[in-house]
Amino acid sequence: MKYIFLFTIFCTIFAGFIYAEWQEEGLKGKFYDGRFMVFSFDYESAEEIGLKVRDVYNKVIEDIGYWGAFKNKYQILIWKNKEEFLKFLKKQNINISFESSAIALYNWKSMPTILGYYSQNFLTKFLPHEFTHLILSEALQIEGEKIPLWINEGLACFEEGGSIESLHKFLSKFIKQNNYIKLKELIYIKEYPTDTTKLQLFYAQSQSLVGFLINKRHKKDTFFSFLRWYVVKEYNFLQSYLYAYGEYVNLEEIEKQWIEYVCK
Ligand SMILES: [Zn+2]
Repeated sequence: MKYIFLFTIFCTIFAGFIYAEWQEEGLKGKFYDGRFMVFSFDYESAEEIGLKVRDVYNKVIEDIGYWGAFKNKYQILIWKNKEEFLKFLKKQNINISFESSAIALYNWKSMPTILGYYSQNFLTKFLPHEFTHLILSEALQIEGEKIPLWINEGLACFEEGGSIESLHKFLSKFIKQNNYIKLKELIYIKEYPTDTTKLQLFYAQSQSLVGFLINKRHKKDTFFSFLRWYVVKEYNFLQSYLYAYGEYVNLEEIEKQWIEYVCK
């Protein structure tokens, strides 16, 4: 009991120190529930983001079928507008593309962190996307950079919760023209495609493939078991699929099943 009490005091002091640092950066609102530390431009937005982060967290672990206990604390720093956000990034020597509204840093100042600014789609799109990258890395206990790109981006896009119908309408067009990225290429992509259409296809197909695998699970942890074989133990796609889903098939067969899922 005494230790729990001391630990609580330590956490409060710890959050207080960090708060003082971010207050100087214009982030005056704080929400902290022992795990999620949100620092934002005012209290209302900090609370709104803190509550959203909890929802996203619960949904992601439900979707991936994770059973274990999480230990990480997360830090989320949100500026009021793009100008202030970019100014801060420059000061910290962090480079991102100009269009980005938020960024996930797996280990920044010893903590998984999201930096961003409050925009129209921040709560519904950018926050779930970036936060999913951090949760997946923690659930698999592996550095984010080691997670295959299609899994990492596919799950993050899946958690944005956009319409599957319009995603599949978009993909059907490319599938019918035989102009999509074949599975045997998609799962080995290590760099973001530079061609705009291919980049769009990469994100859309990765999201859809992750959706297909989550949808196909027969037990709560089937997809998570696949992730452990494939990402952590580094078995190939087909072996991991066999161990998790119990199907001995080749990539062409999985691709055929995925196409039926998209075009049904
Ligand atoms: Zn992403």
